[in-house]
Amino acid sequence: MSIYTANEIHLINRPCGLPKQSDVEMVQRQLQPPASGQVLIRNLYMSVDPYMRGRMRENAVYAEAYQLNKPMYGGAIGEVVQSNSERVKVGDIVLNQGAWRDSLVAGDTAVTVLQPFDNEHLSLYLGALGMPGLTAYVGLRKFGEPKAGETVFVSAASGAVGAIVCQIAKQLDCQVIGSAGSEEKTEWLKAQCGVDATINYKTCGDLTKALSKAAPKGIDVYFENVGGEHLQAALNVMNPFGRVAACGMISAYNDTRPNPGPNNLMLIVGKKIRITGFIVSDHADMQAQFQSDMVGWIEQGKIEYKETVYKGLDKALDAFLALFNGENFGKMIVKL
Ligand code: NDP
Repeated sequence: MSIYTANEIHLINRPCGLPKQSDVEMVQRQLQPPASGQVLIRNLYMSVDPYMRGRMRENAVYAEAYQLNKPMYGGAIGEVVQSNSERVKVGDIVLNQGAWRDSLVAGDTAVTVLQPFDNEHLSLYLGALGMPGLTAYVGLRKFGEPKAGETVFVSAASGAVGAIVCQIAKQLDCQVIGSAGSEEKTEWLKAQCGVDATINYKTCGDLTKALSKAAPKGIDVYFENVGGEHLQAALNVMNPFGRVAACGMISAYNDTRPNPGPNNLMLIVGKKIRITGFIVSDHADMQAQFQSDMVGWIEQGKIEYKETVYKGLDKALDAFLALFNGENFGKMIVKL
């Protein structure tokens, strides 16, 4: 079998603030043919996700730090082009952790063979049908616990996680308020995702006033993707016994020093608010139910999804950086 050349993106510096092109390097490497129990994968799509910024730090909080001068990694979808495995065959489409690489050799137990319900939309397994979709499903249901008639506020509402949260909350007969960073995004949330009220946080002025206006009866659940002023406004407008599903706080991921947090945390006591952080990888037990529900919803046209697609491994860092200025509309995908 022939030797295969892989292109990989390596982290070569721990970024300070927003990562720069000089923090990464494209490296070519010769891959050996797969040994027993291994497969050679040619990746078709890779994901860039905000959590990867945490892995670029020396002291990552919940996910292991990327090593310097080694390829970064994360979710990818690829085709098996050589196999030395009894379980995974040539031509299988597999979910793997080889993002930031166009090809890799992996053990057959480290990949999931997909039975795609739609071969035209394999990238869905990195978005609505993948980790971000499961995050929305777990976070809202297990930690937000919305009841019919309650009001749910979602930040980064048009993103990969947020747009799914909004639509699951609508299916649960909640009132939904979404915040996003452009008119195009807020219009889509209202027109296509059934969101009841939206806030363009970049133009609305005082966020607490805008949220109070959008939610005259207060909010009962806040799905937290952003942090900072969004959390402050959500606590101000939250009803007693409200719940915060703390999924992420992207506004702080590139901070070079800690910024002051919300100044109204005492409201957690007075309003008896429950704030729960969660990490999706702890909730694999909900994966099967999620897959079955989400495939059904997509097939029935009950879930709208959007993707922004950048083309080429050399554009992967640009795609990643775009997450931090809102250039993505929906799930950010890199097509390889
Ligand atoms: P998105 O698709 O939502 O992309 C990120 C979006 O965040 C941007 O499009 C932008 O939208 C918004 N954003 C970026 N910077 C800011 C800012 N300073 N203030 C306000 N909004 C900002 O990403 P994901 O859906 O993948 O992730 C959403 C959140 O979920 C992140 O916090 C992420 O870390 C978290 N997450 C957590 C997981 C867990 O297990 N706990 C798993 C997966 C994701 P806009 O144009 O609206 O500003």
